Amino acid sequence: MLSFMIKVGINGYGTIGRRIAHAVSLQPDMTVIGIVKTKPDYISRIASNTFNIFINDLKNKEDFNNRGIKVKGTLEDLAGDVDIMIDSTPEGVGEKNKQLYDENNIKAIFQGGEKSTVGESSFNAYSNFNESVNKRFVRVVSCNTTGLARTLFPIYNRFGIKHVDATLIRRATDPNDSKKGPINSIEPSLKIPSHHAPDLKTVINGINIDTVAIKVPTTLMHVHVVKAQLKEKASREEVVEEWNKYHRVLRVYGKEGLSSTAQIMDAAREMQSNRSDLYEIALWDESVSLSGDTLSYIQAVHQESDVIPENVDAIRAMFNLEDKEKSIEMTDKSLGIGRRNI
Ligand code: NAD
Repeated sequence: MLSFMIKVGINGYGTIGRRIAHAVSLQPDMTVIGIVKTKPDYISRIASNTFNIFINDLKNKEDFNNRGIKVKGTLEDLAGDVDIMIDSTPEGVGEKNKQLYDENNIKAIFQGGEKSTVGESSFNAYSNFNESVNKRFVRVVSCNTTGLARTLFPIYNRFGIKHVDATLIRRATDPNDSKKGPINSIEPSLKIPSHHAPDLKTVINGINIDTVAIKVPTTLMHVHVVKAQLKEKASREEVVEEWNKYHRVLRVYGKEGLSSTAQIMDAAREMQSNRSDLYEIALWDESVSLSGDTLSYIQAVHQESDVIPENVDAIRAMFNLEDKEKSIEMTDKSLGIGRRNI
C-alpha cells in the first residue's frame, strides 16, 4: 500500500476526460497534475480555472497565450511528472500515445474506443477488479460494455448464465456534438454479433452473449433490451434482491414518470449531480420479468458518465491502493452513488 497521492495526468479532455479529471480531483488518494488540450477553445478556458493546461503540440502555445490561457508545458512534460496518464483521446489515438507512456515509465489507462490489446487487462470494477491489480496498462471498457457488465455480472455471479441476447439501441452521438448523425434514420450495425459481445467477454470471462446494435437519432442515453437464460432457478424477487446489493445499478420506475431516457436525464438534472450525470445504470423495474429460465429487463445507460467511477477504481487497482470493495465504496461516496432515489 502507498501512503502518498497518486499523481494523475489526463490526456484528452473531451466528454470522458473532463469527467475523469473532476472525479479524480474528488479522491483523497490521488491528485490531478494537469490536463492535455489541443486547442485554446472554451473548454480550455474553463478548465484553466481548475487545472494546469498542457498542450500536445508546442507550436500551438502562442495561440493559447494569445487567448490568455496559461500553458504549463507539453504532453511530454506532463508524462515526465505523473505516475499515471489517463488517456481519453479519440479512438485509436491512445494506442499511438502508448509508446510515450512506456518511455516515461508511467502507467496508463485507455478508454473503450481502443482495441482490447492496448492494455494488459480490460476493466470493470464489479466483474474483474483484481485482474488489473499492479498492471501498467489497462483499458476501461466502453459505456455500453460497462452497462452490460454492471447488470449482468451480479446475475452471472449469483445464478450463472447459459446465454445472453442483448439488443443495444445506441445514442447517435453526445449532446455537445453538432457534427455526427444520424439525425433522421435508424442505423443498424450489420455485423452480428456487434463488437459489444466479444468486448463483454474481456471483463466477464466465459460469458456466452450475442449482441445486436442499432444507432438512433438521440444524444441522451443508450437503451439495452436484455434476455438472459439462467443456469439456476431464480424468482423475480431474488434477482432484484441481488441487484440491490450493487449501488451502480439503480432501479427506476416508469409508473413514477420515468418512462423514457428524457425523464431519467431530467431527474439527474433535478438531483443537481455533477454535470447532471448519472453514473449508475438505470434499470426499469417494471421491465424485469422471468419466463421459465429466461430473465428479461430493459436498462438505460448514460454514456457520458457510466465509465467515470470505473476509471477511478482502475487507478486504485493498478497501484494496489485499496481492495475492490473499499475502492468502490470510496469512489461511490465521492460521486454520490448509492444515495440516489429517483
Ligand atoms: P471526445 O471527442 O469528446 O474527446 C476527446 C478529446 O481529445 C477532445 O477534447 C479532443 O480535442 C482531444 N484530442 C484529440 N486528439 C488529441 C491528441 N492527439 N492528444 C490529446 N487530445 C486529443 O471523445 P470522448 O467521447 O471523450 O471519447 C474518448 C474515449 O472514450 C474514446 O476511446 C471513446 O470511445 C471512449 N468512450 C466514449 C464514451 C462516450 O459516450 N463519449 C463513453 C465511454 C467511452
